[in-house]
Amino acid sequence: MRKVELRRGPEEEERDGTGGIDVEQRRPAKDRRRRIRCPKCGYQPVPSDRWFCECGHSWNTFDTRGRCPACQKQWLRTACLRCHQWSLHEDWYEPEEGPNSG
Ligand SMILES: [Zn+2]
Ligand SMILES: [Zn+2]
Repeated sequence: MRKVELRRGPEEEERDGTGGIDVEQRRPAKDRRRRIRCPKCGYQPVPSDRWFCECGHSWNTFDTRGRCPACQKQWLRTACLRCHQWSLHEDWYEPEEGPNSG
């Protein structure tokens, strides 16, 4: 039987009690959805689009970030349904734009 000792240091981090509490801006945790489009031709996949895995399973690869839910294969590249060119899955996600967009 293993014995686990948890030691807690008696000293806490010193905080200045001047009342200057910085409230960090809250941002929705990864709630922001980045636009998805083909880096080659600009095609934007829709939720009903399906990709086929080599295991025969078909699903929307952007629901799982390129991971086959059936065999757990991680696809690094994703083929476009329109131009049929392969691109890195990450490249499909448009980089976040600044606050001043269009
Ligand atoms: Zn394309
Ligand atoms: Zn699969």
